[in-house]
Amino acid sequence: MPNKTLNAKLLWMQFEDVLAPRLGLTVKERAVYCYLLRHSLVVGKLRLQFAVMAMARTLGLSIGAARHAVRRLDELGALRVLKRNKTGHLAEMRLPEKIRAIRQGKHGAFVITQAVGAAGAPPAATIEGTDFLKTWALRKAIHDRGRGACFYCLRRTPASVQCLDHVVPRVRFGRNSYRNLVSSCMECNTRKGDRPAPDFLRTLYRLGRLTPAELDARLRALKDLAAGKLRPLLP
Ligand SMILES: [Zn+2]
Repeated sequence: MPNKTLNAKLLWMQFEDVLAPRLGLTVKERAVYCYLLRHSLVVGKLRLQFAVMAMARTLGLSIGAARHAVRRLDELGALRVLKRNKTGHLAEMRLPEKIRAIRQGKHGAFVITQAVGAAGAPPAATIEGTDFLKTWALRKAIHDRGRGACFYCLRRTPASVQCLDHVVPRVRFGRNSYRNLVSSCMECNTRKGDRPAPDFLRTLYRLGRLTPAELDARLRALKDLAAGKLRPLLP
C-alpha cells in the first residue's frame, strides 16, 4: 500500500516541518525515526523488523539511547512496536499525517491538520473550508479581489497572464484557501517559487520594484490575508 501512495518529498517535509517540531523530537529520536522510515515506508513497507543493536551502531548511538528513542516514538504514536523478542523489534510505522498528536490540537481541534491542509480537513461548509482552486468561478473570485493588479509587484496584469499564487507554497502545505491564494503576474509567480512571501517582497523592494511605502503596505496585506481580512466575494 504505502509504495503506491507514498510521496517521499511530502513525507520528508511533513517530518521536518510538522512532525519533528510538533512532537518535540530530540536529535536522537529524529535519527531513529529517519532510520526506521528509510527501512519501512520509503521502501514501500508499513512494517519492519529491526535490531536495536544494529541500528544503534549505524547511528552512532548507545543501545540505551536507541532503545529509549524507540520507546518514546511508540508513546508519541509515531510508530507502534508490535513484537519484541531476541531477534529484535517488529514495528509498524505511522505516516506523519496519521499521527494523532500532530493532527489534534490541545482542545481536540484539528489545528495542525487545518494549517497543513492534510487529510481530515473540515468539510467545505463555509468560506473557510472552501477550496478556491476547485472551480473557475472560485478562482475568478480571487482574481477579482486583486482588481487586476499583481498582489506582489502591484503591476496591472491582464487576465491572460494572471496566475493564482500560493502565498505558503503547496510543498509547504499551503492550502487552497482565500487566506493563502492571491492573484499575481506570471513573473512573480515564477520568481517567488518556494520562498517565503515576505522575503520575496523584500527582494522586489531591493530591485526597486516596490517603494518603501508599497513594501510596508504589501507586508501588511500579507498579514491581513492570513488573518482572513481579505475575503473575496463568493460567486
Ligand atoms: Zn507581479
